[in-house]
Amino acid sequence: MGGSDAKTGRFPIKMAKEHTSGAKALIDSVGLMPEINPRPTARLSFSAAGDALTYQSHPAARLTDSHGRVIHDLRVSVTDRCNYKCIYCRTGEAGAQYPELAIDEYLRLIRVFVALGISKVRLTGGEPLLRRGLVELIQELGRLRTLDGDALDLALTTNGHLLEGLAAPLKAAGLRRVTVSMDAVTAPAFERITRVPGSFETVLGGIRAARAAGLAPLKINCVLLRGFNDDQIEGFAQFARREDVVVRFIEFMPLEEGRLWTPEIVVPLKEIVERIGRVLPLAELEPREASETARRYRFADGVGEIGIIAPVSQAFCGACSRVRLTSDGKIRTCLFSQVEHDLYGRLRAGASDGELASYIVRTIQGKEARHHIGEPGFLKPSRSMVHIGG
Ligand code: SAM
Repeated sequence: MGGSDAKTGRFPIKMAKEHTSGAKALIDSVGLMPEINPRPTARLSFSAAGDALTYQSHPAARLTDSHGRVIHDLRVSVTDRCNYKCIYCRTGEAGAQYPELAIDEYLRLIRVFVALGISKVRLTGGEPLLRRGLVELIQELGRLRTLDGDALDLALTTNGHLLEGLAAPLKAAGLRRVTVSMDAVTAPAFERITRVPGSFETVLGGIRAARAAGLAPLKINCVLLRGFNDDQIEGFAQFARREDVVVRFIEFMPLEEGRLWTPEIVVPLKEIVERIGRVLPLAELEPREASETARRYRFADGVGEIGIIAPVSQAFCGACSRVRLTSDGKIRTCLFSQVEHDLYGRLRAGASDGELASYIVRTIQGKEARHHIGEPGFLKPSRSMVHIGG
């Protein structure tokens, strides 16, 4: 393991000896790619030593889709179990619908993605803190290096229920940042949503422990549904300032287990900004990078920041840099994909790292241009958010 070779500028992907015979076929298949997509894309080559596939770390040779988007952000679900049953997300079930991989299998797959240009890994679920071996996985991921030789940007999304006890070990293992989901700032509303008594105080304890452990910046994600929790908007603005957290409001997407979504239930960005602005004036901040999902605003008095993620009213598909790996090892190139790509099936069938890399490169080529929320003929994906990995 380690960074790219200083002399060759190449990043080795370890490949077992017994798989080297398959490498020629792999290279041949990758060699066909320019016919599919004339843009520069990931290019694998076979080293003279004959025991390693190398990925040329040329700046143009990053994981790129057929729309020219560079994919550098991987979201990995490590379980689709959850200890909350948020009423806009689940029908009442908390259990798994899909299998989980062993921790070292996630690690192997993530390593291949990183060798192809992924620089940010977000662990999610289901509820990732339920997953045994998570701290060890983070420790191992902390040792990986990007194509530029940097540590990964390692983040986690959690409901925060188990965070109080885990924040310090997660930070020590190498986690950089954590996002906690909270859909209300009053205890009764919060518990009505999660369907877990005492959950508000428990999550608050988790948030404070995360801050004390240095998991910063600490972000809070709040999904808003009209007539359900939009009375919490102004309270969240105060909460952001009081607790020194960045609250990010998210527009509700048609990804729930049941059938709740309508265009009218979405609280759009414009309305959120106007409502907060009436009590606490806001000033919009410049994006830090093109693929940033949240529009950021600071409070005019300089104390605190909020963000709004508006995939419905202001879709950001054109700058999407994400790919997802489900808990059972399927690649999803879009939250709304109608097809999944069985990466784990290939691993189980004995594919080498190079063959897995080739499969990923080809799969990314087929990434959808955009989602079609709200359009006639829109099809909900077969998996809901909790089973994809939010
Ligand atoms: N258990 C973790 C958590 O609570 O953050 C990770 C999984 S959860 C599915 C990830 C995020 O997806 C949460 O912030 C949740 O609110 C959000 N989410 C769930 N359903 C959604 C939907 N239909 N539209 C938008 N966001 C959704």
